Amino acid sequence: MKQEDYGPVSGSTIFGGISGRKSIIMAANTRITTVARGIFQAAKDTDSAVFIELARSECDLKGGYTGLTPKDFSARINKAAHEVKFDIWALHADHITIKKGDSAEIEQTRLLIDAQIAAGYTSFAIDASHLFNFEGKNVREELEQNIRVTTELAHYIKSGMKGKDFGLEVEVGEIGRKDGDGLILTRPEEAVEFIRALRANGVYPHVLAIANGSTHGHVYDDKGNVVEQLSIDIPQTRAVAKALRDNSLGTGIAQHGITGTPRELINQHFPKGDIIKGNVGTFWQDVVFDTFKVYEPGLYKDIQEWTLDKYRAANPGKKDRQIFDGNCKFAIKEFFREIYSVEEDTEQAIQAMAYAESLVFFKAFSSYGSASLVRDRVV
Ligand SMILES: [Zn+2]
Repeated sequence: MKQEDYGPVSGSTIFGGISGRKSIIMAANTRITTVARGIFQAAKDTDSAVFIELARSECDLKGGYTGLTPKDFSARINKAAHEVKFDIWALHADHITIKKGDSAEIEQTRLLIDAQIAAGYTSFAIDASHLFNFEGKNVREELEQNIRVTTELAHYIKSGMKGKDFGLEVEVGEIGRKDGDGLILTRPEEAVEFIRALRANGVYPHVLAIANGSTHGHVYDDKGNVVEQLSIDIPQTRAVAKALRDNSLGTGIAQHGITGTPRELINQHFPKGDIIKGNVGTFWQDVVFDTFKVYEPGLYKDIQEWTLDKYRAANPGKKDRQIFDGNCKFAIKEFFREIYSVEEDTEQAIQAMAYAESLVFFKAFSSYGSASLVRDRVV
């Protein structure tokens, strides 16, 4: 059935549509929403389903660091989808992060979820992975708080959605957390225990974010240069996916932190179908700022100076490039008005770049044709 208003479809419908396929659906964190039109146009032209998302840090009731509330974000993305006339996309709340799990934080989180539901979100990622108990005597004890908080919030979302389907992502193993030996990776038995416990509580996640070697944003060498690499541990990821499958838990993997991973490596080596959702965030911000370098050099310089002035002192020994890359996201709110009032040819260039880059992601993720599979299920 044709969806006339081009509003978001449920994340669960997208995951259902690609079930059994060797596809990854791109989830784009559009911190600067100008890129959304280009992404949607590429999705339409390649018949690719897509998620558009922002994390709690990026978008909350106070605007996060992008300056957008859930309502603002939803309005902008809906407008872009409507202009392009693209129908198979989900509006996703990435990283609804809970760090302490106390009642005050849970209450704040409920208010955020209320706003996301009111704004028409169709998919949610509860991230209570920080609540890992290092003193736990077994896997269950280590995950107890994560299970408790994830269960509570998942039920809260369900009641707020009033019978409407939604996508649900949960997280075990904090992405990017390190110990003395390097990144801590999620073990298959952790993933199985976590999902099994949630299901026993009546919570049925479609996707699970795991710590499997990726980090958010760019990766740097000792000299402060950007490293392009395939940092995710493919065998570990496959082992987690296999363990979930062997236990009939019906949950795919959400891969976070894809920026910086060369697309030819994704295309050739990512376990598509084990990984079913691929988050690309920082990359889209880079598209905008790289375009500004040429089209809006004055604005780019202002953003650069503001960021370096503000964050240099806190980052001794780091190169300016790394300080800028790591902190320029905080300039989005500061320069909100300027960023969204650039010349039309600047917007055109950003959207054309976003379009071309999306084509390459969709190809590397093998998501061409996925929108039609989902469309058959949309009623
Ligand atoms: Zn993430």
